[in-house]
Amino acid sequence: MELIFATNNKGKLKEVKNIFINTKFKIISLADVGFTEDIEETGSTFEENAFIKADTIFKKYALPVIADDSGLIVDQLNGEPGVFSARYAGENATYSDNNKKILEELSHFAQPHISKFLCCAVYVSSNHRISVVGELHGEIIRTLRGAEGFGYDPIFKPDAYEITLAEMSIEKKNQISHRAQAFNKLKEKIEVLI
Ligand code: IMP
Repeated sequence: MELIFATNNKGKLKEVKNIFINTKFKIISLADVGFTEDIEETGSTFEENAFIKADTIFKKYALPVIADDSGLIVDQLNGEPGVFSARYAGENATYSDNNKKILEELSHFAQPHISKFLCCAVYVSSNHRISVVGELHGEIIRTLRGAEGFGYDPIFKPDAYEITLAEMSIEKKNQISHRAQAFNKLKEKIEVLI
């Protein structure tokens, strides 16, 4: 069964394809269907934004769609950057800009910088709307480490690990990450529908 994954984020696409490997689902990317526009994230919660992405693509292609919205929540920054994680340092911010800004903000606080990643993953089809969440707890460290993954991975050290997410292989990250937890739950729920 084909599922369109409503994302233009190459890091997420790679992870989610890996999560759905050896299942009855084939993940189709937006590039595969020729959708190149940006979907504006106007929601105020992860769930709203995930449904905005999925609904936009479902309306256009009328095929089952999965989507996610995710972000980093830092206690000492009152939950920021949260839903603004992709654009924390400004509209066209790079991952490097965002990491730099968060380290600058956190330099005014004592360590540890307790944080968590949250991912809301959704499924939209003609008959179903499903939403699930996954969380990964850890802390922000003050230097960037590792070259794998994307986004805030080089500064995020999960609880009970001495390495950052960017120092893990995709298989290792997919054993623990917020996105893997959410999409594994979603997968189980979709499996019983088909
Ligand atoms: P969005 O879900 O497309 O709005 O973007 C989420 C943003 O949160 C990404 O651009 C990253 O900055 C950050 N983010 C979400 N998940 C991860 C992750 O697994 N690792 C690192 N950064 C992440």
